[in-house]
Amino acid sequence: MYQTIIIKNKLLSIKREDLLHPYISGNKFRKLKYNIEEVKRLNKNTLLTFGGAYSNHILAVAAVGKEYGFKTIGIIRGEELVNNIENNPTLSKAKEFGMEFDFISRDNYRNKNDENFIATLKLKFGDFYLLPEGGTNLLAIKGCEEIVTSEDDAFDYICCAVGTGGTISGVINCSKHCQKVLGFPALKGDFLQEDIRKFANKENWELINDYHFGGYAKTTNELIDFMNEFYTQYQIPLDPIYTGKMVFGVFDLIKKNYFPENAKILILHTGGLQGINGMNLVLKNNNLTQIKYNAY
Ligand SMILES: *Cc1c(COP(=O)(O)O)cnc(C)c1O
Repeated sequence: MYQTIIIKNKLLSIKREDLLHPYISGNKFRKLKYNIEEVKRLNKNTLLTFGGAYSNHILAVAAVGKEYGFKTIGIIRGEELVNNIENNPTLSKAKEFGMEFDFISRDNYRNKNDENFIATLKLKFGDFYLLPEGGTNLLAIKGCEEIVTSEDDAFDYICCAVGTGGTISGVINCSKHCQKVLGFPALKGDFLQEDIRKFANKENWELINDYHFGGYAKTTNELIDFMNEFYTQYQIPLDPIYTGKMVFGVFDLIKKNYFPENAKILILHTGGLQGINGMNLVLKNNNLTQIKYNAY
């Protein structure tokens, strides 16, 4: 489903991937699709993955477990959360979907890709299918290659929020050479460029690094105000971690005349709306402006 808006004579179409599923939302649905097929093919019954306390990926995996009958285990960054699940909307929901948690220290969490650490997890939990943090692997990228289709051939620009870079890699792979894919990283990090290059099959892309708002899961009043105004104007909810920053960036680039006259721009709404409740709790505790809409 697309929604089209016009800003300063520019046609902006928003592809509502967020509407695919309330909890397996947007790009997380795409990233999990072929992994689910692989888990079934391997006859495994447990998914194990990693994430932070408000992770869209964690909740998506929990929801997949519930829907497809897999056991799910979430290795969560931050030991302090163990007694605080009921105050965390993401983790509460994941628990409701049947996910089992293991809360580990931030130090220990850094071993998430380490073979020895994974081996200790196998001793603890038995055999499982491992999904990396954020869910990015080759099968995830294959799924993300289905986000942009031949229906989108007429667009000159495709704009996408970037976390690990898996989603944009799939988008690049299914884009046309004459299209330009713009990535808006939600975090600071020079490693992204290289990570994307590993998976992407073209060079028609660029990362715009000016709209991370201080880093991953950091926000400002300016960003929240923008999201609230955007919602009032277009009734489209954006999430504070990824799509809010990306759409803010696109609007700012339009203001700065970055795009040529008559450029047709596609914005991918990759979802993430489940994170609004958690972010609002953080904003409230810090006496900051809150997001005025609720996804669910
Ligand atoms: C996870 C996520 C992203 C980033 O996807 P990557 O493949 O990690 O780059 C973008 N938007 C939303 C809403 C997400 O949940």
